[in-house]
Amino acid sequence: MNRFLRLVALSVVCASTPVLAQEQEPQKPQEPQKPQQPQEQKTESKHEVDVHKTSSGDLEITFLGHGTVMLKFEGKVIHVDPYSRVADYATLPKADLVLITHDHADHLDAGALGQVRKEGTTVLVAESCKGKVENATVMKNGETNTVFGILIEAVPAYNIAKENGAQPFHPKGAGNGYVLTFGDTRVYVAGDTENTPEMKALKNIKIAFLPMNLPYTMAPEMVADAAKAFRPAILYPYHYGNTDTAKLLELMKDEPGIDVRIRKMQ
Ligand SMILES: [Zn+2]
Repeated sequence: MNRFLRLVALSVVCASTPVLAQEQEPQKPQEPQKPQQPQEQKTESKHEVDVHKTSSGDLEITFLGHGTVMLKFEGKVIHVDPYSRVADYATLPKADLVLITHDHADHLDAGALGQVRKEGTTVLVAESCKGKVENATVMKNGETNTVFGILIEAVPAYNIAKENGAQPFHPKGAGNGYVLTFGDTRVYVAGDTENTPEMKALKNIKIAFLPMNLPYTMAPEMVADAAKAFRPAILYPYHYGNTDTAKLLELMKDEPGIDVRIRKMQ
């Protein structure tokens, strides 16, 4: 298979999971759900929302599904990897800032991006998106940027190269995770990655989103290994497809100081 066909095939398999998840989703109209953390969680529309206190005010996280979240902070709206198969962007606030982790179709979705953009939206993308998004700023691994006073660090997101030399789903350098600093609160959205040395060396992360879906990203054991290394106070597994989240809870049950929260992020 030539390189182009292989990329197309990868995009298709990578994007195939949420279709299943969506088909299984019951089409109930806005039924209120019982909150698991009454002080911190509320439900807006069909998407769960958590609110976290920071030294500069509330950070609101809306769990849109799959690999995409929406953050609200100091009146600004941030969309990470907007993806139209899991959310109706016509009904969601437009973005002041968009972060794209890599160019696979379930992360770089031109339709969703077009819907969340408005005049003046800042769009930061990873190296693999270079030339694929108009008026975007490419951040290479390790680069930093500050938007609306929010420090954004691009962390490498990749599959660790196999000894047999097979091309990984996510080669090093192509994708970013992002660490965003909101006041005293550092939030890490990892992108599609394994438990890399760079991830395990992160410091002072309050909230982490780690992907959990073999063979593209991590098994629960790999997520647990990473979390035990860099010790986020709150861990949200995301982009987990059909992976059993109970396995991660079991692996982390004796880890004081790391609060694993399961939200609807298939
Ligand atoms: Zn991917």
